[in-house]
Order: sequence, then structure tokens, then C-alpha cells
Amino acid sequence: MTTKKLLIQGGTVVSDSDVAPYDIVIEGDHIAAHGLRGDFDPTSFDEVFDATGLLVLPGLVDPHVHFDAPFMGSKTVHDFHTGTASAAYGGITTVISFSTQPKGDSLLRNLEEHEQKANGQAYVDWSIHGILLDSSEQTLTEIPKLVEAGVPTYKCFTTYRHSDRLMDDDSMLQVLKTTAESGGMLMVHCENDAILEYRLQRELAQGNTSWIYHARSRPNSAENVAIQRVIDLMKEERAPVYIVHASTAESVRIIQKAQSEGDPIHCETCTHYLILTEDLLNTELGHLFICSPPLRTQRDIDALWRASRVGPIEVVSSDDAGLPSADRTRLGEGRFDKVPNGMPGVEPRLTMLYTEGVRKNRISLPRLVSLSASNPARLFGLFPQKGSLSPGSDADIVLFDPNIEWTMSAKTIHMNTDFCPFEGIDVFGKPKTVLCRGEVVIRDYELVGSPGHGRRVFRKLDSSFID
Ligand SMILES: [Zn+2]
Repeated sequence: MTTKKLLIQGGTVVSDSDVAPYDIVIEGDHIAAHGLRGDFDPTSFDEVFDATGLLVLPGLVDPHVHFDAPFMGSKTVHDFHTGTASAAYGGITTVISFSTQPKGDSLLRNLEEHEQKANGQAYVDWSIHGILLDSSEQTLTEIPKLVEAGVPTYKCFTTYRHSDRLMDDDSMLQVLKTTAESGGMLMVHCENDAILEYRLQRELAQGNTSWIYHARSRPNSAENVAIQRVIDLMKEERAPVYIVHASTAESVRIIQKAQSEGDPIHCETCTHYLILTEDLLNTELGHLFICSPPLRTQRDIDALWRASRVGPIEVVSSDDAGLPSADRTRLGEGRFDKVPNGMPGVEPRLTMLYTEGVRKNRISLPRLVSLSASNPARLFGLFPQKGSLSPGSDADIVLFDPNIEWTMSAKTIHMNTDFCPFEGIDVFGKPKTVLCRGEVVIRDYELVGSPGHGRRVFRKLDSSFID
């Protein structure tokens, strides 16, 4: 079989450091060469993509999704089939999903189960993160094996004591120590459990059960103190840490300070924390906007955009964790504390970041690429295979049409749910063509890829990016 040769011609190529007009040659599954416009003879290629007027971006990496995950009596709307289809529509060519194993179960066996779930289902490439529910001997023994098996990142929680998922200080120190020894990176969901429980009981005692009390019972202070606590524990056992979904104005200052002191700490925020406010919880459909940490205020949004532009935020993920609207209504029973948490968002991420970020001059185009593709690839052990348009990298490429104007809605996108958190927002830009390892997955805005093309990517952290 001869290797297919493709040419992407006439586009404006955006890397994480540059915007420049050049043509890209793809051979088989990887990028083979760059050249000035007109350097390559179009007749010597199997297919030529005319990228005139389009932005050529590296395929996006979404390092935070929850596919096929049971949660609070429900299950996330996306599995590897529907989730990677929506991801492809959103210009994402690699997703990293969280494994959810029952407490006490083996992390490694869970990895195998995910492999089976995703086999033959995924349109784009995928990997998983582990979830640590304790620091049992089994967990600590399995961490190095997990790292070796290509899953060097895993998350723990500083809350959810009531469902037995809280990682206390003693356990966190053990896990940090093992992480440092095994070349992994610990991801932490930071909300202080004591504050959340105290507030929850106080609101319930006063009969405050409407949706907005989800935000009232999970204040900024709970997140801030939990992040500071992790940083203090890192002083005892220095290991790379990644704070998931930073959402408060103060959190980014705390993380910035720790970074300036040399701590190997990293953080992301999520699309919805950059755009939506807690005011949405004050509406009848507020339960559909319940996520943890909760949506915050405009003051937080402004600080998060600033931190996305200049740091310390390095990544914007989707935290795609939508749950069926009917389940949320039914299980919620009109009480904020009973609603399963989490929103879908894998598909809107690129268009929302372009519309709200680039078009509003909050971030540059190269910064958009850093936050959504290159940095997640670097931090999660995928670079330069992913998140890069350099020769040798996988031919994961998005031809993004920046001029299309449309309205974001559950009806205009392809997520497996009737709820879109960004419903009704007028937006700019849409992926026209998406390639994953040289195969066309989206062509002329429509899904043409095949489930099963997506493969598991083995990840290995590069200490030069995380230490
Ligand atoms: Zn999450």
C-alpha cells in the first residue's frame, strides 16, 4: 500500500507561538513538511485541501472529560462513541477521560475495562486518567504500574467525604510521595469538605433548597483554602500537581505565588467558568447548570481570563460531564443538593474560546492554541506527537472557519443531550475539516470518520514541562 499524501494549501497556520501563511504536507498519519505558499505541486498529492480564508490549528486536546461515567445515580450523556463524535465536531482530536472505578477496585483492571468500552467506538484518539479514592496499599502499589502503562496522571478529591472519596492530608502525603517516585502527576479537585458540609447543613436548616444555594454552599473560600492546603503539603513531598477546574479569582493568585516559589504546580480552568455566571442558577432551569465547583461571578470570570492570557492558567478543558436533563430534574426533587453535578461541553469549547476569547481580545490566537492544544499535550505527556504542527507530529489538524456566524444551541450542535450550557449565544467560527492521524473525521462541517479510528494514546510525562 502506498502512503497517502495530502496537502493543506493557502491557510493561515496558527501555532502556540506564531500565526503565519504556509502549506503543510501530510504523509500517511503524520506531518511530513512545511513550505511557503506554492512550494508544493498540488498535482503530486492524493488530495489537496484548500484552506484559503481558514485557520489551520493543531487538533485540540481536551484533557478533562467524563465519558461513560456513572455519577450520583445517573450516568454521563457521552460514551466513547457519542463523546468522541462531539469532540471531533468541536475540533478535538484527543480526549483524556477519567476512569471511574468502584472503591477498592484495581486501577489497572479499570484501564482494561475502558479499553474495551472504547474499542471500535472512538472517532478520535483517547487516553484516560486514573481516579484515586484512597491511599491503600493497593493504590500505592498500582500507581507506578499505571504510570508505566501509559497513564501517568490521576485525580483525587479533597471533598466528597460523604461518598467516601475524600483524600485526607495523611493520604495525600503518601500519594504525593509515590507520585514523585514514579514519575506521575497528581490532579486534585480542590474544595474544602468541612466548609462545604458546614454551609450545606446551614442552608438546609434554613430551608434554602433552591438551585442558587448550590453556589452559596460552595463558596470561593472552600476552593481557595483547599488549593493552599495542597500547596503546603507539596512542601513536604515535592511532586507535580495539576489543579483541575480552578474557578475563583483568588485561586489563580494562590497558584501564581506557589509557581513563583518554584513549586511544580499547574492548573486549568474550564470553558464554562470563563463565560457563565451563577445568575443562571437563579432561573427555573438552574438545576441544569449545577456543577462543582459552581459557576461564579463576573469578578471571577475577569480574573480567569487574565490568568488564561498571562498565566498561571495553562489549559482550558471542558470538564464534559453532562447528565440527562430528565435525570437531573427527577433526582433533584427540587433540591439543589440532590442534583447530579456536571455539564456537557466538549463540542462548544473551541468556538466559545474563539468567540469569547479571541474575538473579544482577551486572548491571542496562539494563546488559544496553547490553552486548548499544545499545553495540555505538554502537561499530559503527549507532546510533540499531539498539540503540534511540526514535521513528525501526528497529522491531527483542524481547518477552522473563523467567519461563520451561528447560534450555539443544543439544536445546532451534536452532543448527546438536549441541554447546551451556552444555549442562545451568538458565536463565530466552526471547524470545517478535522483530521486525526491523517484521516478525515469532519469534512465540510459533517462527521465522516469511522468509530474505531480513534486509538488509545500511551502517555509519558516530560519532566521539562512539569517540574
Ligand atoms: Zn471533572
